[in-house]
Amino acid sequence: MGKFELEYIKSQEFDDVYAYEGMDLGCTYSKVKSVLKVWAPTADRMVCHVEKQSKEESLDMTKEDRGVWSLILEGDYELASYVYLAYFEGEIHEATDPYGVSSTPNHKRTVIVDMEKTCIDNNKAHLTPLESYTDAIIYELHVRDFSVDQQSGMMNKGQFLAFTEKNTVTEALLPSGLDYIESLGITHIQLLPVYDYGSVDELNIKASYNWGYDPVQYNLPEGSYSSDVHNPYARIEELKKAIAAIHHRGLRVIMDVVYNHMFDREGSAFEKLVPHYYFRSDLEGNDSNGSFCGNDLDSTRAMMRQFLLRSTKLWIEEYGFDGFRFDLMGILDIDTMNAIYEQTKSIDASGMIYGEGWNMPTMISDDYKATMMNHEKMPGIGFFNDIFREKIKGGTLEDKFENQGYASSRVENSLEAKHLLYGTVKEVEQDGRNIEKYFNHPEQTVNYVECHDNHTVWDKLSLVLPEESEEIRQLREQFMTKLVLMSQGIPFIHAGQEFYRTKGGDHNSYKSSEEINKIDWSRKDQYSEDIEVIAAYIDFRKQEPLLRLKTEELVRECCFIDVLENHTLVYRLQNQETWIEMYINPTLEDQCFSVKEQLTYRLGRVEIKENEVIVKPLEIAIFKNS
Ligand code: CA
Repeated sequence: MGKFELEYIKSQEFDDVYAYEGMDLGCTYSKVKSVLKVWAPTADRMVCHVEKQSKEESLDMTKEDRGVWSLILEGDYELASYVYLAYFEGEIHEATDPYGVSSTPNHKRTVIVDMEKTCIDNNKAHLTPLESYTDAIIYELHVRDFSVDQQSGMMNKGQFLAFTEKNTVTEALLPSGLDYIESLGITHIQLLPVYDYGSVDELNIKASYNWGYDPVQYNLPEGSYSSDVHNPYARIEELKKAIAAIHHRGLRVIMDVVYNHMFDREGSAFEKLVPHYYFRSDLEGNDSNGSFCGNDLDSTRAMMRQFLLRSTKLWIEEYGFDGFRFDLMGILDIDTMNAIYEQTKSIDASGMIYGEGWNMPTMISDDYKATMMNHEKMPGIGFFNDIFREKIKGGTLEDKFENQGYASSRVENSLEAKHLLYGTVKEVEQDGRNIEKYFNHPEQTVNYVECHDNHTVWDKLSLVLPEESEEIRQLREQFMTKLVLMSQGIPFIHAGQEFYRTKGGDHNSYKSSEEINKIDWSRKDQYSEDIEVIAAYIDFRKQEPLLRLKTEELVRECCFIDVLENHTLVYRLQNQETWIEMYINPTLEDQCFSVKEQLTYRLGRVEIKENEVIVKPLEIAIFKNS
C-alpha cells in the first residue's frame, strides 16, 4: 500500500501519473445509454449504487487508465439517481458525483438529467459588448433577500423565478423587483452563491437562512431557490430562466463562486473519492486553514485546477453567466486564476473576473497566491479595493469599528480620497505626504463602501456618529455612493445601499434571520427621491467615458484633482471635446468654489452665483462644458 502514502498522493509524480485530461468525467447521458466516469486513483474498488424508479442496483465499475473508473448503464436512465461507493482497505466511502449536474434534495444523490431538455435562449443577444470592466456598475444581490419581503410585490418569494417577474410593484405602487433594478441603471447583478450549498435545509427552507458560502455540489444550482426541490429539472430550468430574464433587460449576471473551501471536508465528494488529494495540507497531515473555515481547496493540484476550469466553463456555457466574483480568491493560486480568466475570455469576450484578493494564511507561498499584492501577475483580474472602504467609509473589522473615513467625518482623509478617485493607479502627494499608486490600471479596482459582509453604511454611521440626525446620515451615505460612482475603476453597490439598507446593526448576518437580511421594499418607497439622485449619478457615469477610463495613461492624461482648504476637492476630467468639473464637499458646512463661466450645472445640491458656486454639505456637484 506504500504506493498511496500521503507523501505520494501529495507529490507532483502522482499528478504526472494519474491526472486525467478527458472531458467526460461525470455522466454522459443519452436515451440509449448513460456513461458514468469518476476519478478515484487510490480506491481499491468502485461501486455505483443506482436507483431507477423503484429498482436499486449496486454495480461494479471498471478501472481504466489514469485512475478513472467507468460504468455503462444501457437503456434510458433519465431521472435515475446514483452515489459512488469507494472502497479503501475495508473502508467504504459514499459520495455523490462531483461533476453531477442535478441532485435529490439536500445533496443526497446525484440525478441523471437530459440537459438538452433544459436548453433555452439565454438572451445574450440583448447585451451590448462590455469594452472595459470600468463600464460595469455592479449590484450585489442575494436571491432570497431580493424577493422574500411581504412588500416585494413578487410572487415567487425567495426563488430564482422572482427574477422572471415583470411589472411588480411595492405597497406604494412603485416598481419593485427587476423592473426597479433595471430603472436604477446598473449593468451587472452579482448574485451571492447559487450553486448547491449545505446550510439551508431544502426540505424545510424557512427553518434557516444563509448567504451560502458553504458549497457542497459545485456544478448544480441550490435547491432552496427552486419551486420544486423534488423535481431535478426545476432548479436548473429556473436559474436559467432567471439569467435569461436578466439578460433580456440588457443586464449581465456575475456568479459569486466559493472555490476556496467547502461546507465540510470530510463529507465532501472530493475527500471521499480521493482522500488527501483535493484539500491543501502539509506532509505531516496538518490541514491548511487560510479560509478560516477548516479546509482550503488546493487549486495547485492538477485535478482540482481542472475541476475549477470545467466548473466555471459549465456555468458560462450552460447557464449563461457573464463572469465570476471569487470569494477568498487569495486561497487560490495565480496560474489557476489566469487560466480561468483566459478560458472565460475565450468563451465570452465581455466576461469579467474579479475577487477578494486578501492575503490569507493558506499553505502556498505569498508570491503565488491570487492576492491584490500580486495584481501585476494577474493583469486581467479585478480586486475588491478595501482601501476605498476603509478610507471613505471607515474601519470595518471589530477593532476598527470606531474608525471613520472621509465621508464619515474624517475629512482629513482628503489625500486618500484623491488617491481613490484616481482609481489608486497614480501616486499622490501633498504637504510632504505621499501615497503610492496601488493598481496598474483602473480595470483592477472594484470600488465599494458596502457589500454583504460587515456593517451596512447606514449601520456603521449609526454606530460611529450616533448623535447625527437621520437627514445627515442619509447625506453621508449618498455622498459615499456618489464617490463610488465618480471614481475611476469599477463601481460596486450593495443592493439597497441606495435606500440606506440596514441590518439593525448586525455586522455578520450570514446566518441571521431572513427578517434581518431581506431587502426591505418599504424603504425603497420611503426614499424614492433619494434613489432618483443616485440613478442620476449612475446615468451621468454611463454617459461620460471620462469617468470610465481604462488605462493608467488615460488617468494621467485626463484626470486632475486638487485638494483645497477644508479638505474639499476639485476633480477635473478633460479630453479634447469634454471638460467636467466636480466640486466635492465632505464637510457639514456649505463650501464655496470658483467656477469658470463656460461650465454648465449638471448635478448636485448647489447655489450658483456669479463665477462661484456654493456646494451644500456632503455633496459632489458636477459641472460640464455643455
Ligand atoms: Ca443545498
